[in-house]
Amino acid sequence: MIPLVHPIFGKEEKKIINEVIDSRVVASGKYVEQFERQFAKLSNAKFGIACSNGTTALHTALIACGVKAGDKVITTPFTFIATANSILFCGAKPVFADIDPLTFNICPKSVEKILKTQKVKAVICVHLYGLSSDMGALLKLKKKYKFALIEDACQAHLAEHNNKKVGSIGDAAAYSFYATKNMTTGEGGIVLTNNKNIDALSRQVINHGRAGHSTHTVLGYNYRLTNIAAAMGIEQCKEIEKWTKQRIKNASLLSNGLKGLDFIGAPYVPKGCVHVFHQYTVRIKNGLRDRFMKYLQENGIGCGIYYPEVIYKQPLYKDLGYKKVSCPQAEQAVKEVLSLPVHPALSDKDIKFMVNTIRNFKK
Ligand SMILES: *Cc1c(COP(=O)(O)O)cnc(C)c1O
Repeated sequence: MIPLVHPIFGKEEKKIINEVIDSRVVASGKYVEQFERQFAKLSNAKFGIACSNGTTALHTALIACGVKAGDKVITTPFTFIATANSILFCGAKPVFADIDPLTFNICPKSVEKILKTQKVKAVICVHLYGLSSDMGALLKLKKKYKFALIEDACQAHLAEHNNKKVGSIGDAAAYSFYATKNMTTGEGGIVLTNNKNIDALSRQVINHGRAGHSTHTVLGYNYRLTNIAAAMGIEQCKEIEKWTKQRIKNASLLSNGLKGLDFIGAPYVPKGCVHVFHQYTVRIKNGLRDRFMKYLQENGIGCGIYYPEVIYKQPLYKDLGYKKVSCPQAEQAVKEVLSLPVHPALSDKDIKFMVNTIRNFKK
């Protein structure tokens, strides 16, 4: 079976984790600080605030950008549920904009339609599957309508938009280091920002709102990363550039191999973007997806649907009053998308096998 995800660890991770255990400093510590600097540097951001996971990083970023109860925050309905839930954690209201059918990312025109009629505090754009959102258009809207722009970069470590790394194009960005992401600390996350006030407030938010040793000035949480997880992250940081290149190469081999198959739409990469292929996601047309998925699984190729439903149709959101929302492009995407293995542990032989198997599918 060729698995859809395959986290990679070496003896370095084992060694450094043993060092942490031997030091007995297993909660906050110097490895957390080193990891924050290292990951921020990789992404060309000034500040990194390590968090317990990507979801808490998103919540922290929203609070640090000033989102409060009753505020409206625009996001995409075609993402992992944590994106929208982080808005609910603030007592704020998610407002859903439709996606661009080519990139699967939030459509700036659909965002502007909302901005024209409603006061909005923030926009969370998601760099879905590892492809940057249209940051140029979103920054223009930010200038015109004044809102905080938050990047959900949980799937987009080292992705680029017009020669700039994602993660410091907006006001703040959230990353995840969950086990299935492009690099991992088991559970883990980070907020990146170039803004020193957002940095300072984020540091308080993840640590009970502490201002001094026993002074608490804002409502905070325990969203800290452990020294053990951070140590693992330090070793993963050393590999992520190599792994990213491998993902890009695998994706290009797949796209070349799948050329000419009319029932498959390969991923689209806009000019100026470096797509880091957290997922290699194709569209399976003509209602063939379920049969095609079963065929792949029977032939030993792991695959998955990200995401099978738009967020506003989840029972939780229906109960919250989102029954009448309609984003037709997102609703079409959930019916067609399928993600295939693209991780850096795939061999050229694996990819040839995948391409041949897919080409032999009888419609
Ligand atoms: C993984 C992910 C998250 C949440 O990260 P966790 O570390 O699992 O909490 C948020 N948004 C997106 C787009 C993700 O892929």
